[in-house]
Amino acid sequence: MATPTLMQNYGERTLTLVRGEGNYVWDDQGRRYLDAISGIAVCGLGHCHPRVTEAVQDQANTLLHVSNLYNIPAQQQLADKLVYTSAMDNVFFSNSGAEANEAAIKLARKLGNERGLATPQIVVMEGAFHGRTLATLTATGNEKVQEGFAPLPGGFLRVPFNDIAAIEQLAEKHDNIVAVLAEPILGEGGIRIPDMDYLKKLRALCDKQNWLLMLDEIQTGIGRTGKMFAYQHAGIVPDVLTIAKGLGNGIPIGACLSRGIAAHLFTAGSHGSTFGGNPLACRAGLAVVETLESEWLIERAEKLGDRLLRGLQIQLSECDAVTEIRGLGLMIGIELNQPCVELVAQARNRGLLINVTAGNVVRLLPPLTLTDTECQQLTGDISTLIQQFALQAV
Ligand SMILES: *Cc1c(COP(=O)(O)O)cnc(C)c1O
Repeated sequence: MATPTLMQNYGERTLTLVRGEGNYVWDDQGRRYLDAISGIAVCGLGHCHPRVTEAVQDQANTLLHVSNLYNIPAQQQLADKLVYTSAMDNVFFSNSGAEANEAAIKLARKLGNERGLATPQIVVMEGAFHGRTLATLTATGNEKVQEGFAPLPGGFLRVPFNDIAAIEQLAEKHDNIVAVLAEPILGEGGIRIPDMDYLKKLRALCDKQNWLLMLDEIQTGIGRTGKMFAYQHAGIVPDVLTIAKGLGNGIPIGACLSRGIAAHLFTAGSHGSTFGGNPLACRAGLAVVETLESEWLIERAEKLGDRLLRGLQIQLSECDAVTEIRGLGLMIGIELNQPCVELVAQARNRGLLINVTAGNVVRLLPPLTLTDTECQQLTGDISTLIQQFALQAV
């Protein structure tokens, strides 16, 4: 129960979860729920995965924190692993997604300042979500997130998502653009998937204009879409990459990776964090990346995602309230023709945790460890729920 000693920024919270194991969580009444939201794309390995638990326990018994005044072997190991799998050059570790994006924004501005630009600009997208710090909420393309927080920092130019021509037009009007910041798939914005060649065209445009391509993979990264990073579907590599959510399976950790010209912008003293990349967080991150590999969970996400998407499309094909079902890997959105937040409570009553984003999109972000049976159950339950909701709504 929320008490007045907590700021009321999260609205009313009716469910109290006290335990998790695998793809299930239990509430304080002992009721079990299939978790199809994974703490918003965080617990990709399910809850209390033994390898993560063991790594965290071992590190808690060894050394929790020393600060970035000293070498941290686990930080170096995790950096090596991430650089290898991403084809980036180097990493800065933060504690959250927003902070990873702050690092990216600072990199872009540093490049602009080195180019002698007084007010370097970053191109951002309508419908984007990049976090809640002042700079990242300004980059976010949702007025509700920004409302009441004026003055917002400058330095951002906004275009529609999935619209290369709009960015080309900006390039003709402005000579101080330094970077494009984009999600490969809009997460909070409603699981919106751009055209197949969008990222390739963005890459080509950034190359031509000498801008940094900065991809926010905080929700899409770490295997969620059936590749380690979503840009790998497009056969490109960004200049700056931000990740967080799934990297620690619940231990807070974020990272900003950079490549090429972007990899040499920060020098000693340019940026930092007290907690960022501490031994505990990095041991968790290492356990996650190793487990994704050893249990073939990224391939599993691709296969499960296809099955879930096709199953939902078949079972909901006759449901008029559904306008589109879309997804990539285990990032799936079911768009309805009306607001449908009530579905969250209705699902909960059936022992299922889901989320509704952008008002009318049911968002599924289940663990990559989902079993075949659970996948089937999820498909059936969601279809039934939405069919019932559609009947009530008419
Ligand atoms: C969640 C999210 C963020 C913000 O991450 P926090 O850890 O909440 O700061 C940024 N970008 C995207 C795409 C996200 O999904």
